[in-house]
Amino acid sequence: MRGTAEFIFTGDELLRGDTINTNQAYLGEGLLDVGVFPTHALTVTDDREAIAAAIGTALERRPDVLLISGGLGPTEDDLTREAVGDALGRSLVHREDLLDQIRARFAQLGIPMGDSNRKQALIPDGSTPMPFSGTAPGFWLIEGDTLLAALPGVPRELRQMWTDTLRPLVLTHLRGHENDETGVVVRRLRVHGMGESTLAEVLRDIPWRGSGVDVGTRAALDGITVILRAQPDPAARIRLARMEEQIRDILGTKIYGTGDDDLAAVVGSLLRDRGLTVATAESCTGGLLAKRLTDTPGSSDYFVGGVVAYSDALKTSLLGVDPALLAAHGSVSQEVARAMVEGVRDRLGADCALSTTGIAGPGGGHPDKPVGLVYVGAAIGAQVQVRRFTLFRTRDEIRERTAQAAFDILRRGLLDPLDK
Ligand code: ATP
Ligand code: MG
Repeated sequence: MRGTAEFIFTGDELLRGDTINTNQAYLGEGLLDVGVFPTHALTVTDDREAIAAAIGTALERRPDVLLISGGLGPTEDDLTREAVGDALGRSLVHREDLLDQIRARFAQLGIPMGDSNRKQALIPDGSTPMPFSGTAPGFWLIEGDTLLAALPGVPRELRQMWTDTLRPLVLTHLRGHENDETGVVVRRLRVHGMGESTLAEVLRDIPWRGSGVDVGTRAALDGITVILRAQPDPAARIRLARMEEQIRDILGTKIYGTGDDDLAAVVGSLLRDRGLTVATAESCTGGLLAKRLTDTPGSSDYFVGGVVAYSDALKTSLLGVDPALLAAHGSVSQEVARAMVEGVRDRLGADCALSTTGIAGPGGGHPDKPVGLVYVGAAIGAQVQVRRFTLFRTRDEIRERTAQAAFDILRRGLLDPLDK
């Protein structure tokens, strides 16, 4: 790693838990991607002295980069400007050019600008404003060896400022000259069908220590991402490539993509490559499969449509599920999942189909059919399989995981029609 960074997040809403600190996740990853290792993150109440003290303490450790998020708005609890001024013994200067830009932004939005917004045109003496997409200009300055930057708390505005202005600045600061792209190589492998702890065991055997390659994982509803980052050095890059190969050997088709590939989109390209179409019959996912498939532009190439059949009556009338099956096994059953997938495949005239039926909770569970019990049906032509899952946690998570599971069954089926 080429440098260190620290964060200060301001905002009582973060401390109260009303707002999840997504800016930390975003900036942490962004810094690692340019080879900067974050060492400290502190969330501070909206108090001028407390923020100033946090800045002072952070600067004593002389990080290469110190990022402050939030508190650039017009209200009384927006105190980052003042706190930076206090901590560095710099006065705040009014920038008429910034005020003009803020005025223009309000005019563009068709909102009258309040008097309180005038203070957003103040920045610490010797700092440089950063172009802004909201109404809060950010600013940066050099203090000792540290690049200090203040960003708005609104995630969308912060992200834009990071990519457009701050990321290039950080690179310049660390390398001493302009227009130098990061030499860090980042590889993300998207994994489905493996628990995080099993994956951790696999990764433990990879000799990454001292290799110049950093290995991490991120678990989310859409599966696990293995992140490999190689320092800007040719030997580390070669080691990264070898490690990737090693991980691919072990995980095989559990890896469904790289970067930020989406599983539904991956399935979509497989269908397109093979000239096949797909239809969906959904109960517990309530249209999520169809939504996910149509999130990808151009999905009309392979997605013909879907049916959300929540009631037993519609499962019968729209999908042709035999009422006797429903009576005998219940709607959450292997038999009904199979009938649904066959029904939608035939009635919508698709080559492939997916079906879901399950108990997403929180109510509606029985000892023999608990919350989280889900059946997923998948048809590729005449070949049909039904898989049973027991999923955990919230209704949303159960539905998201069901969708992922369904897409993965289809993906594997398309890769290898005999793989069941
Ligand atoms: P504003 O002009 O909106 O006041 P600001 O720069 O002063 O912007 P804050 O007041 O701290 O920023 O936060 C603005 C919004 O951004 C709030 O809705 C807050 O919940 C959200 N926010 C602030 N910090 C974070 C964070 N670290 N992660 C995610 N959201 C955040
Ligand atoms: Mg604010």
